Amino acid sequence: MDLSIVVPLLNEEESLPELEAWIRRVVEKEKYSYEIIMVDDGSTDGSWSVISKLSAANPNIKGIKFRRNYGKSAALNSGFQAAKGEVVITMDADLQDSPDEIPELHRMITKEKYDLVSGWKKKRHDPLSKTIPSKLYNNVVRRMSGIKLHDFNCGLKAYRNPVVKSIEVYGEMHRYIPLLAKWAGFGRIGEKEVIHRARKYGQTKFGMSRLITGFLDLLSIFFVGKFGKKPMHFFGALGTLSFLAGFGILTFLSVKKLIYHEFGIAERPLFFFGILTLIIGTQLFVTGFLAELVSRNGADRNKYLIEEEINLHPEASLLDSLKPTYPKVKR
Ligand code: UDP
Ligand code: MG
Repeated sequence: MDLSIVVPLLNEEESLPELEAWIRRVVEKEKYSYEIIMVDDGSTDGSWSVISKLSAANPNIKGIKFRRNYGKSAALNSGFQAAKGEVVITMDADLQDSPDEIPELHRMITKEKYDLVSGWKKKRHDPLSKTIPSKLYNNVVRRMSGIKLHDFNCGLKAYRNPVVKSIEVYGEMHRYIPLLAKWAGFGRIGEKEVIHRARKYGQTKFGMSRLITGFLDLLSIFFVGKFGKKPMHFFGALGTLSFLAGFGILTFLSVKKLIYHEFGIAERPLFFFGILTLIIGTQLFVTGFLAELVSRNGADRNKYLIEEEINLHPEASLLDSLKPTYPKVKR
């Protein structure tokens, strides 16, 4: 199959028929074999019955319905698990992303050999309260990650199939998929300017809380990415510094008291500072230990992604652990 289009949606009943018709027009013109996976993220309107109707008329439409609202990341993740196409394209359901971009995205993945191509809404049709924080945020992520994208959170993205099978999008991590891909070893990340349109029906599903949660997620994703597998390198280093500082200070004060018989040691601010850093140091150290224990028990503590193998017995092959739906590379 050439193409899987994954559409996460929450209460988008008015948009779906138009979206489906438009996608169909584009992909049939290009003669792709395709599937559209609509993931209903716990809609409370008629979205699911619209999907049922659409899929009855067009068997290329597939649906997944969540029991309740789990969030866009979960919706994308389950769509990714189901996707069979060589190229996987994600697209918002609200008609803000244009299906006319599909052929060029498909070409960039198949011909220019990108692992991931992210849309860039250069001219956005969103309120200022959204575009200004977004500029700032993209700047920070670009600097911290070293990935040269203007628009990390664009809903319109295209992937090579192995990429979506290799990453796990959870929580609110859909904002950072290019980072997840890079860390999974898929470094050819490109960008395409895309047309963005104003929302036609319904309203945005993300409020201002996205500013705070987005920032916290950014911190945790960088922490997990850098120290997730070796937390002691972070906590231990800080803890040791702090502990040594405290130990040094208290030793110095003890010498003053015991050898030089200085009075009033316990009234000096330095005394309290020494105790404080000693305690914090110990706590950081203990935290590091606990974090090590936790990460050592994590299911993916030894997860690595294998790209190719030579001469391995089929039973010994590790490629299967990826459950690839794309052809294995054989030599
Ligand atoms: N969405 C979803 N689950 C959620 C929130 C949003 O599947 O919990 C979908 C939504 O239906 C839309 C896409 O994610 O297809 C992007 O959401 P929205 O358009 O509200 O975001 P915005 O464009 O305002 O950033
Ligand atoms: Mg939208």
